[in-house]
Amino acid sequence: FNDYAAPESEAELAFEGALRPKNLSEFVGQTKVRTQLDLLLRAAALQGRAPDHILLAGPPGLGKTTLAMIVAEETSQPLRMSSGPALQHAGDLASVLSSLLPGEILFIDEIHRMARSAEEMLYLAMEDFRIDIMVGKGAGATSVPLELAPFTVVGATTRAGLLPNPLRDRFGFTAHLEFYEDAELEQVLHRAARLLELELSDDALTSIARRSRGTPRIANRLLRRVRDYALVHETPASGEAVDRALELYDVDALGLDRLDRAVLHGLISRFRGGPVGIKTLAVSIGEESDTIESVVEPFLVRSGLLARTPRGRVATELAYLHLGLPVPEQIPL
Ligand code: ATP
Repeated sequence: FNDYAAPESEAELAFEGALRPKNLSEFVGQTKVRTQLDLLLRAAALQGRAPDHILLAGPPGLGKTTLAMIVAEETSQPLRMSSGPALQHAGDLASVLSSLLPGEILFIDEIHRMARSAEEMLYLAMEDFRIDIMVGKGAGATSVPLELAPFTVVGATTRAGLLPNPLRDRFGFTAHLEFYEDAELEQVLHRAARLLELELSDDALTSIARRSRGTPRIANRLLRRVRDYALVHETPASGEAVDRALELYDVDALGLDRLDRAVLHGLISRFRGGPVGIKTLAVSIGEESDTIESVVEPFLVRSGLLARTPRGRVATELAYLHLGLPVPEQIPL
């Protein structure tokens, strides 16, 4: 239940697919990004050209893949899916780029994880729709230019700061996705429950939204657990069923799960509440620092449980109170 960085299973992928909004008007929340994207796509359509390259930045599960699919849908162009980890050599990227159809949307998930050589090829391709392919080896190697059909890159990243500047600069538009408000998550859940033909009481809806870490993927996932619970126990999907189901999966009243609590507990018990560097903290609880930085930390900061200071991360008073621990006299904020 801890890895919300990715869908949990094939079943969840299929489930997500069924619930994905298909166009901008069905996409809940992110009003600013939606308006900006809408303008960008409409301007390109009026001028009869491919839209500018788009970078979508933000924590996992906020709708980056969904938005990429919507861009393809709204422009009536095919979508090619790729990802940073799949592009470990310039040749991997060359074969994708050279086979794109004119106007195609190329979605690159986790774009910050591409190999450096592929990155360089990509930003030249994004600028000039042209790549240089190396033919042969050693002294006899020559580079052969290859013209590409115009295309639009939609890049997604949880760590925009890790992208090299030249690549970041090639994106005409960068959208920073924010965590969703509870009321927006209620809309996501309302829509999902309707699609799943699940009757959900109002307090159940509110309770799931409040515990979804501001993230639609998690809202949908919790909804699934509640649906399972209601089904197995032959009970209505009420507020009480939500409490029971989520307790079973260690999701607490604020939506913190085991990993979130492990981070806070580790910070308080091993580092006296901080300040401590995020990498040291990650190592101390045996978790990847990337997961802590891109998934856990943004949510804890947003919830007011963790503060970032120049000297490191610090547990706030709220963190002690939430975990039921005595609050120290001084918190080094
Ligand atoms: P990752 O980077 O981890 O792949 P992501 O940001 O690409 O995450 P998506 O896969 O687009 O996230 O969304 C996850 C799930 O949340 C999907 O099932 C999608 O239906 C739902 N979802 C995301 N954003 C919205 C939204 N604004 N309105 C309704 N549903 C949404």
